[in-house]
Amino acid sequence: MARLNIALGQRSYEIAVEAGALDAVAQHIAPWTKRGRTLWVSDSNVAARHWPRIAAQLEAAGLAAALHIVPAGEQSKSWGELARLTDWLLGEGVERSDTIFALGGGMIGDLTGFAASIVKRGCEFVQLPTTLLAQVDSSVGGKTAINTAAGKNLVGAFHQPRFVLIDPQVLATLPPREMRAGYAEVVKYGLIDDAPFFDWCEAHGAEVLSGDPAALGHAIVTSVAAKARIVGEDERETKDRRALLNLGHTFGHALEADTGFGERLLHGEAVGVGMVLALQYSARRGLCAPQDAIRVAAHFKACGMPVTLREAGVTADGATLVDHMRHDKKMAGGNLPFLLARGIGQTFVAHDVDLADVAAFLDELHARPG
Ligand code: NAD
Repeated sequence: MARLNIALGQRSYEIAVEAGALDAVAQHIAPWTKRGRTLWVSDSNVAARHWPRIAAQLEAAGLAAALHIVPAGEQSKSWGELARLTDWLLGEGVERSDTIFALGGGMIGDLTGFAASIVKRGCEFVQLPTTLLAQVDSSVGGKTAINTAAGKNLVGAFHQPRFVLIDPQVLATLPPREMRAGYAEVVKYGLIDDAPFFDWCEAHGAEVLSGDPAALGHAIVTSVAAKARIVGEDERETKDRRALLNLGHTFGHALEADTGFGERLLHGEAVGVGMVLALQYSARRGLCAPQDAIRVAAHFKACGMPVTLREAGVTADGATLVDHMRHDKKMAGGNLPFLLARGIGQTFVAHDVDLADVAAFLDELHARPG
């Protein structure tokens, strides 16, 4: 059991990582169940697998529980599902002092967090993440959002949860491909500023992916500690600090846009390829050794993840991909900050990247054989 704290003044909160925590869920969430009833949001996959045992415990603890089920999938981060969720919460008579429990992956966390930020002008919420991606990344840090016709995550709010309860055992039901996608975000923390952790990932990645309890626990605790530290230093991404968490995301976002933001290329897979591209582009600019990019690609490949544009199913040329990047939220005054690296564990924000040069780089990759 590890307990981490995210230091944000009045918005500080605890993140508990404990194998089997969901089997004692009523006890863990007791501080947030003042009115003797609880409001839960989950998706159709997670509810089918995990709600019955949670409901049984809540009942045994004498807590009333109401559950709203959202259809599984990224398409539910929408105005329509947000409206259905807020209508449901209001219909349940939600009060400002109530806490809403988000049980699911990043989709449920982002949608529920956003609903919590606006209903009754802001309610509390607790995250119970059920994907590796959500456990190591999206459940911590308070970014909430939905997708709109104009793009992904463009409407949302910063709204910190009151508590995050992470049970690595819940990942036993997660499909292996989703596990690998989440693992890309684990490796990200090594690449940002923790080279020894990247070494550890190379040695233990296979154990993490197979669900070995010790390796999985270490990967989650190390990742959450890194995220909590970075968010504590720059909650609203006003300095270059929190932006480091976007390593691989600018390239990745373009790949996701080209492949339709869905099953063809999962978010974590896009971030994995995006990190390889960021390292390759850094090497092309003479910032890091080509060997660093080769090493990162080799690790992802060994884990069974895509590492090239071709493997990601991306056929668009450099100009088209760069065009997707221009719609990035981080675009400021015509300049797009890019996460580049001086080596493994030495990521920095570059403000001088010429998008035409990025397009040329991507075209060169397309032209490579193999
Ligand atoms: P997801 O929530 O859609 O979950 C992926 C799939 O796994 C879904 O089909 C879901 O039903 C299923 N699933 C979840 N838990 C399961 C379990 N324990 N057993 C079986 N199936 C399970 O996607 P995700 O990868 O968790 O999150 C991606 C989302 O997170 C994206 O919308 C992305 O924008 C967002 N995100 C947000 C942040 C942030 O800081 N807020 C950071 C990264 C990503």
